[in-house]
Amino acid sequence: MPLDPGVSKAGEDEAAAAKRAMAWTHTARFLTTASKLSELPPSELPEIAFVGRSNAGKSSAINILTQQKRLAFASKTPGRTQHINLFELGPKDAADALFADLPGYGYAAVERGKKLRWQQVMAEYLEVRRNLSAIVMLVDSRLGFTDLDLKLLDFVSPRIGNGTVKMLVLFTKADKLGRRALDSALAEGQNTLAPLIGESADVDLAPFSALSRQGVDDAAVWLHRSGGGPGPSTA
Ligand code: GDP
Repeated sequence: MPLDPGVSKAGEDEAAAAKRAMAWTHTARFLTTASKLSELPPSELPEIAFVGRSNAGKSSAINILTQQKRLAFASKTPGRTQHINLFELGPKDAADALFADLPGYGYAAVERGKKLRWQQVMAEYLEVRRNLSAIVMLVDSRLGFTDLDLKLLDFVSPRIGNGTVKMLVLFTKADKLGRRALDSALAEGQNTLAPLIGESADVDLAPFSALSRQGVDDAAVWLHRSGGGPGPSTA
């Protein structure tokens, strides 16, 4: 289904909602890095996790959404690639949400032991992290869902299915596909997601490009809402 930012409150149009959302995402700053769940500080703040296959465009997406060129590349510095990196958002003295940048997966050169460890860290985080409120999954639109993406969807499907965690799948690098190819990639992705979407599930799928900025505003509005910002209009 298309991502519909709608109207965030009576009288406020989409452009204004996007502007507010982008001003909010821009407040993101590095908080801490952890190699396992037990090292993450407990938090009551809504936490939005970013997951994706290595090279899917996760860092580029986080950087463009926060308008900070190097924010997510901090996650790529040696020693941190297998870590969970936390960013804080909102006013400096009163953070109101967290972004968690989870390790990219599926990189061919990573040896078996590390892959297994990755699975444990991801599964544990996604199943157990109490304040997890939303997941953004980055999928290269030219590849569609890979086996590891599907495994990850499996880890989270109980929490998505019961409506406690919402999900946004961004089909990245949309600029690299023509209109028809993109449409068919999105339709195929939707078919994969369909079994996840029960009555209580909140799952969106949308095209995204850090290069052309397609989908950036809508994704920012989605994040803002998931982080406790203004909800959809009830008017
Ligand atoms: P990550 O490993 O998932 O964090 O992926 P990166 O953000 O580092 O991106 C991987 C590669 O894809 C880099 O060469 C990026 O320049 C490229 N890339 C990322 N997003 C886009 C996009 O929207 N359009 C295009 N054309 N290339 C992109």
